[in-house]
Amino acid sequence: MQTHNLGYPRIGSNRELKKACEQYWAGKIEAAQLEQVAREIRSNHWQLQKDAGIDWIPVNDFSFYDQVLDTCLMTGAIPERYHPLIEKEHLKTIDLLFAMARGYQKNGYDLTAMEMTKWFDTNYHYIVPEFKKDQKFSFFNSKVTDQFIEAKKAGYNSKPVLTGPVTFLLLGKEKEEGFHRIDLLKNLLPVYFEVLEKLDASGAYYVQLDEPCLTLDLTQKEQQALVTAYTAMQQRFPNLKIILANYFDCFGANLSTALSLPVQVLHLDLVRCPSQLEDILAVPDFIRARTHLSLGIVDGRNIWKNNFKQSLSLIQKAQQKIGADRIWLAPSCSLLHTPCDLDLETDERHLTAEIKQWMAFAQQKLAEVASLKQIAADPETPASKTLLEANIRCIESRRSSALIHNQQVKQRVAAITEADARRNSSFTARKEKQQQEFRLPLFPTTTIGSFPQTKEIRAWRAQWKKQQLSDTEYDRLLKEAAQEAIRWQEEAGLDVLVHGEFERNDMVEYFGEQLAGFAFTQNGWVQSYGSRCVKPPVIYGDIYRPAPMTVEWSRYAQSLTRKWVKGMLTGPVTILQWSFVRDDQPRSVTGDQIALAIRDEVIDLEKAGIKIIQIDEPAIREGLPLRKENRREYLDWAVRAFRIAASGVQDATQIHTHMCYSEFNDIINNIADMDADVITIETSRSQMELLDAFATFAYPNDIGPGVYDIHSPRVPSKQEMVALIEKALHYIPAERLWVNPDCGLKTRGWKETKRALTEMVNAAKTLREKI
Ligand code: GLN
Ligand code: ZN
Repeated sequence: MQTHNLGYPRIGSNRELKKACEQYWAGKIEAAQLEQVAREIRSNHWQLQKDAGIDWIPVNDFSFYDQVLDTCLMTGAIPERYHPLIEKEHLKTIDLLFAMARGYQKNGYDLTAMEMTKWFDTNYHYIVPEFKKDQKFSFFNSKVTDQFIEAKKAGYNSKPVLTGPVTFLLLGKEKEEGFHRIDLLKNLLPVYFEVLEKLDASGAYYVQLDEPCLTLDLTQKEQQALVTAYTAMQQRFPNLKIILANYFDCFGANLSTALSLPVQVLHLDLVRCPSQLEDILAVPDFIRARTHLSLGIVDGRNIWKNNFKQSLSLIQKAQQKIGADRIWLAPSCSLLHTPCDLDLETDERHLTAEIKQWMAFAQQKLAEVASLKQIAADPETPASKTLLEANIRCIESRRSSALIHNQQVKQRVAAITEADARRNSSFTARKEKQQQEFRLPLFPTTTIGSFPQTKEIRAWRAQWKKQQLSDTEYDRLLKEAAQEAIRWQEEAGLDVLVHGEFERNDMVEYFGEQLAGFAFTQNGWVQSYGSRCVKPPVIYGDIYRPAPMTVEWSRYAQSLTRKWVKGMLTGPVTILQWSFVRDDQPRSVTGDQIALAIRDEVIDLEKAGIKIIQIDEPAIREGLPLRKENRREYLDWAVRAFRIAASGVQDATQIHTHMCYSEFNDIINNIADMDADVITIETSRSQMELLDAFATFAYPNDIGPGVYDIHSPRVPSKQEMVALIEKALHYIPAERLWVNPDCGLKTRGWKETKRALTEMVNAAKTLREKI
């Protein structure tokens, strides 16, 4: 039985890579220093994986930015706009890579960055490859062989990792009409041959090819592409042993294709899909083929300790059928999606010892893989027994802990009725009452919630956390900020005001900190994109709301003005989606618990006189399961969770929701089902095209399509916004249109915010006169 790892978090236990990259971008260190930091990170990570008892250690999982971008460089898939940087400017590869990832504004160039999007159903973003009809590929960058040789020289038993050719193509985008990117396989394969040849010549034994596209609904042609690619690679390099890695879901309808591929080792994600083990072990051809199975049993997407007993039962099942020789053990997917090291969590105020003992980060997960191998090899040795018993104790402690289980919460969830998830009246009836109540003009103007989180505000928060600023003082400063924001919004003539969210560090963390059942780490960082990391809260127990969370802020803001102030909450699905969640109950149950907590808050806001309440759900789209067959179930409970949160109020109370840019086409009926009175969405960059889905579906409620992009400091003109709203009028009648920016303004400065919003209010006024 062998152990291996699919990938290690490259950012470093203390985010060394993040810090070094940012220093390099700021011109504070040289390329050579950055390379040095990178070499140290790699060598530390190889060593710690070896020390943990991993037999085959991944190389080339390291990246300065993203593994898909690295694959673009490896295969020479470099969009034309960057060619002058190579040919004229002779940029170093590392600078070219950063130019592609972040754009390039220097020496008279103004090159946009490549697009970025979410990696399957994770919160990691990859760079989207750009393909042309006559796309040429050529071996351009030798990072994979260089790093393999680097590891080999240092004496590690290493295994190069590559994004597989089919997944690479499928993750890309056609940048012109008239072809499908999968047709490029024949041009691309020769580069993979060249890479494999070089690896072969450098002494590589195993090569891991990641093909998580196997979790998607693949067409016949795409499945055939896998067969073509892997047959060709095997024929050319009979001595190289290919590990084909699929993760994040079952093989589904691709199973027979996957099993037919001539590879040495097939990796399965048994955390997301434990049932596929039996399916595979029941295929006689597979048993005869002598393919090895890599059992991904340790969860690479979450932070909980592995349940050894459960894992061992899966291992034994496989062992009985195919023998230990054909079994590999591994985390379910690359550990890129977990924080590095639980041992760095030393502050009991963050994570109590009781909760900490239930958890494992990347480093601890590798030790688990090695322990499982040891126990599976011989469960009867004293060492195996000790390991197993210690694990059982932890699992048992978590199962029965009073910290986790709250009967009242469980009963409340069980007692939810359909009526709890439904407003009292239809939208039409509600709208009439709301109009009488609010008397808003046509094209009402509002914002999405946050105003600039200035350096000052962040400094206050940091001081307050260090107890250098008292609660009262911190409170006073934030109230002043809210007061100024309200004053300014009144002056600018906005119709529905917000308090500005100055008291919030992050839209999920802020609520998690006030809800029971959440814990926070000090150092549990996970790469989101490039040097950006997130530190998701940990949901460990039953969730409830011990006390109102936002009511005081909203009440205070409302007391300052005669205009309507909108209350601002994060929705249950987004809180769930951006946290590490419990693995001891379905996500839907945790979702319902959060929904009830938010519902309580909504009702309390209403009682405090806040009659317009926004429940943000930017993450509802990203929670969508990869395979179509699983989507219905998710959408049912996700939409219901939102409705539970939103439906405790009177007809005359107006519920808003907000979503950032996402493809709505395939879920527009579910969005409509959420039945928010008003939905604001990000649309300005798509020139309102997104509204097409809403119009086609005849989306019935009010919509606020974003009229300007908040990601850049650029101030849009009134005319521009008038034109956009006029475009929106082709899709949505004036009586149902709101006017607002694309998203919150927390990353912007006040200067551009004020100018842009003033133009926006004027745009709405101009339109009112025109109509
Ligand atoms: N209310 C939040 C804000 O304005 C919404 C953020 C988001 O959509 N991601 O910042
Ligand atoms: Zn948004």
